[in-house]
Formats: sequence, structure tokens, C-alpha cells
Amino acid sequence: MWTLKAGPSGLLLTLLLCLPVSSRAELDISDSGSPKNHARSGRSSTRFIILHTTEGEKKGALAKLRRSGEAHYLVDRAGHVSRIVDKNRVATHAGRSMWNGTAALDQHSIGIEVVGYHNRPVGKAQLRALRELISQLQSLYDVPDDRVLTHSMVAFGTPNRYHRRAHRGRKRCGMNLSTPEVRAALGLASIPSSDPDVEAGRLVFADPKLAQHLYGARAKSRASSRSRDRRPSVETHEDLIYVLPTGRIASHAELLAAKDGRRLLKRLPKGTRVLRGYENAGRISSRRPPSVICGSRWRDPSTLYRLPGGRLVPGNKVRATSLPKNTVVLIRRSM
Ligand SMILES: [Zn+2]
Repeated sequence: MWTLKAGPSGLLLTLLLCLPVSSRAELDISDSGSPKNHARSGRSSTRFIILHTTEGEKKGALAKLRRSGEAHYLVDRAGHVSRIVDKNRVATHAGRSMWNGTAALDQHSIGIEVVGYHNRPVGKAQLRALRELISQLQSLYDVPDDRVLTHSMVAFGTPNRYHRRAHRGRKRCGMNLSTPEVRAALGLASIPSSDPDVEAGRLVFADPKLAQHLYGARAKSRASSRSRDRRPSVETHEDLIYVLPTGRIASHAELLAAKDGRRLLKRLPKGTRVLRGYENAGRISSRRPPSVICGSRWRDPSTLYRLPGGRLVPGNKVRATSLPKNTVVLIRRSM
């Protein structure tokens, strides 16, 4: 038991108790700086901390996050923290996002990627490191507990053929980091009790399961009474990529934006491959072999190669030497 006594040891204890939170625990942290760093501007403010799950293991996730400058930090399963984008610069992690009327949260937030999956539990070492990192960033930028949010809480989608209104539910990223138990383990005392943008009528819930997960039964009833969408589900089309038989590769948004694209969407040509959650990582060249484009994931079955002839081949079915120039690499995005 500690006993407070006058004298040097009592003084030492008092000093220890007065130290700021940030020096209570050491972070196991190292630099994995993104080559994008120099091109990124400073943020206009830092009012939020947004938590993500990588939806894949560390090696591939870190390579991709570094390449695209998509997070400030990554916390691996052992609790090691990697710095990716300088904490005062913009990282492109939140995409189309909004919270309480503030949009484009990349301009106002720090993004932390947690190695793991949105629907699986987070380990103890990882939680401990995440708690310490969040705490230090909160002190540094004066971010209150209720502005530490998950990507799934802030992402939103624009109207499309399934959701006539702008909607929450575009992402489930980081979903399990939003439970009261995990927030408590992260030292976050408060938790948003409702979605301020849905409350204000700026958005509707398009994913009842996510709404229920984040805000409980109240959100569910509001979702069904407010949203008139016929197919309320996570199946939004925001993250679809179409590989057309002509060899053209386009995202849903790109097709929606073009006249011929909208025509194609009405009736997709036979042989079109529709991919969910992928991104076009570019073409293979002599200076950009697959291993440079996507690191160790180049041989992953989830990585797809569109050969110049139009054929789509998974990563586990290719040999590096057999991939010609101009092959397009499609990689599965972290959520
Ligand atoms: Zn995310």
C-alpha cells in the first residue's frame, strides 16, 4: 500500500501524480513515414480522432497506408505504433465524411488504423497502446472523448439508386471500436448517444445493423421511420468497381458521372466483373512491378490483375514474370 508521508518519498509521489497523462506510459513507436508526407498540407484544425480497422494484416496494410498516405498512425496486434503521415499534416483516411455538420474530416482529424477487422475483437496489447496513443493526441490537440469516433460513425454516402438521400452507413470500418466496453478500455468516458447528422436531418441511416450497433434500439426505429429507402442495407454502390469486357475499369462514381457510364449502369454488358471494396492501384511497368505496387500482397488471392487482353487473374495464380506491362492492378481496399 502507498502511504503518503512527509519527506522526500511523499514529495516524489506527489510529483508523479502531477505529471501529465502522456508520460504515464511509454509508447512503443517507430517511423514508417509515407512518401506522400512532403506533398501534404497542414490541417485547418484538429477536432477529431478517427479510428479505423485495416481489414487485413499488418504488412500489406502498412505498405498501402504508407504508399497512399492514408493514416497518421497504425497500431499493430502487439501494440507497436507506426508513424505514417506527420501528425500535423493531412492524411487521407476519412473519405466522404461528416460529423455534426462538419464535412471532409481529413481536414480536421487524426486518423489511426488498428490492425484487425471491423467485426472482430481487439486484443489487450493493442487496446493498451491505442489507449495511450489516443490519450497523448487528446492532450496535444485538446480533443474531448466524444470526438474520438470510428470511421463507420462519420462516413456517409451520396444519393444513389438504392438510397435517395445522403446516408450514413457507407462503411462499417472500426465498428467494434465503438462499443461501450471498448471505449471504456480506451479510457473514453463518453460515447455519442445518437448521430447528430441524422438527428438534424442531414443524413438518414442506410444500414440498420450499423445504426443499432452504434446507438442501440432507438436508432433502429428511427432508421425505419425516417428513411424511405427501399433497400436499407450496407449494400451501397459507393465502393464498386466495374471491369467491363472492353477492358475499361471504372468506379461506380465515375460511371455515374459520365453519360455513357450511366447508360452502362442501366444495363451492364455481359461479362462485366463487379468488384466491391477494390481500388485501381495503377498499371505495371518496368519501374513499377507488382511487388512495388502492392508489397507482399502482390501474390494474395484478393489482389486482381487485369491483363491487357482483358482477362482478370487473382494474385495466387500469377507469376511475376508472366505479367506484361500495362496490366492493371486492383487491390482490396482497407475499409
Ligand atoms: Zn476506415
